[in-house]
Amino acid sequence: MIAELPKRSAAVQALDESLNADLEQLRRDGLFRPLKVLETPQDTEVVIAGRRVISLSSNNYLGLNTHPKLIAAAVAAAQAWGAGTGAVRTIAGTESIHEELERRIALFKRTEASLTFQSGYTVNVGVLGSLLEAGDCVVSDKLNHASIIDGIRLSKADRLLYEHADLDSAECVLTEAKRKNYRRVLLVTDGVFSMDGDIAPLPGLVERAEAVGATVMVDDAHATGVLGRNGRGTTDHFDLHGRVALNIGTLSKAVGVVGGYVAASQAVRDHLIHKARPFLFSSSHPGAVVMACIAAIDVLEQEPELIERLWANTRHFKAGLRSLGFDIGNSETPITPVMCGEAVHAMALSDLLMEYGVFAQGIGFPTVPQGKARVRTIVAATHTPSQLDRALNAFEAAGKKVGLLA
Ligand SMILES: *Cc1c(COP(=O)(O)O)cnc(C)c1O
Repeated sequence: MIAELPKRSAAVQALDESLNADLEQLRRDGLFRPLKVLETPQDTEVVIAGRRVISLSSNNYLGLNTHPKLIAAAVAAAQAWGAGTGAVRTIAGTESIHEELERRIALFKRTEASLTFQSGYTVNVGVLGSLLEAGDCVVSDKLNHASIIDGIRLSKADRLLYEHADLDSAECVLTEAKRKNYRRVLLVTDGVFSMDGDIAPLPGLVERAEAVGATVMVDDAHATGVLGRNGRGTTDHFDLHGRVALNIGTLSKAVGVVGGYVAASQAVRDHLIHKARPFLFSSSHPGAVVMACIAAIDVLEQEPELIERLWANTRHFKAGLRSLGFDIGNSETPITPVMCGEAVHAMALSDLLMEYGVFAQGIGFPTVPQGKARVRTIVAATHTPSQLDRALNAFEAAGKKVGLLA
């Protein structure tokens, strides 16, 4: 039975008409992208629109979202703690398991304390929006993630940008910040950049920040579970423990669940509990999420071979793309862009790949600069060699057809 919709008022219709006019422009620009709907769980192969395709589009680096230990932990936690918490952390929404997860994250990241948030996005918005005030300054890489940019927008601090991953430019900006005598200066960088897959030059950034008394915050959304011992992230990868004040991460990517955290000092944790707006005004994770995250940390500690497999797959896939003749940029991690120039070419390659059985997202402006459109790929530890070789064959055929390969 199809339920009939109620008649819409003139005011409701007017909003839709005005939105549809904007949407028409997106369609004309070729930027209207319908959602791709997965009909099966997130995995190395997924069914989209009835077709089974190899997925190179998720951030599920280690396949932990379907790891039996995580699923068992989530099921048991739902039984033990219920489906939801019904409160924000600061009123009645903190359960002992939230604090257990935070102790585990702090131990894993080798910091004094940690605090979890609903997502990586809300950590950045909460931390940057509450740590800095008027009279403070944030020094930010030009290609930092949107959630960092939004967090900076919410703070009243001054914002100084440096050229992407450029130590001279960062030093110049830090010197300018020092000259202006700000109360707090915070340098913020992604640990691994999500569109290019390059690693931030963290040792140089930390040195230059220390030289002017500035503090460093690193967002390891794409580094946790990928870089460093057992996937501890870029601070561990470069052995900078104790010199990075704020270690941000997400529980939504390699960790395989959902959520975000900051691993830092007890003072930072206490400050955020009182000031970070997403922490204060949005409800806490249900037990299933929390216990699955704890199980994920167990897996990272007990099954390092998963990360070794991720890197073996990464090397194999990158070598394959390179030998086919693709420009794969400067990636140093499992994020591998296939550079296409204009957005229409990236979208054409992505569409053709889908036809050939590979799901790899085309990405254009404004997510990446004009003329730097790409198809972005991320391999997982769980891809089989045969899946990767089939994907490379599809890239070869599609690349030739759209004219990226001779
Ligand atoms: C994905 C990402 C986030 C957001 O994480 P979610 O948990 O998905 O909200 C934050 N920062 C960076 C650098 C990211 O790549």
